[in-house]
Amino acid sequence: MKSILQKEKKCWLCGSTLDLHRHHVFGGSANRAKSEKYGLTVYLCAPHHNMSGAGVHFDKAFDQQLKAWAQKQFEKEYSHELFMKIFKRNYRR
Ligand SMILES: [Zn+2]
Ligand SMILES: [Zn+2]
Repeated sequence: MKSILQKEKKCWLCGSTLDLHRHHVFGGSANRAKSEKYGLTVYLCAPHHNMSGAGVHFDKAFDQQLKAWAQKQFEKEYSHELFMKIFKRNYRR
């Protein structure tokens, strides 16, 4: 499934096009497959992915911000009910 979150291949946070990694917004074994299925992936540059403390895998606030945003985009495309059915948790505040 193509990403529903991004059209351009660049870092979601800083816009860099260097050293990009594909990140599954909702991780963990079950959620990773669901993120893949529903196109909930974004590109992040290496430092904003997992190569520095500012990366989404280490910075909880950044992770939360990305998840809340991704949920919102998912709900525009599908629905809140479907999101809750699939991921069983509301990341929006
Ligand atoms: Zn970046
Ligand atoms: Zn990742």
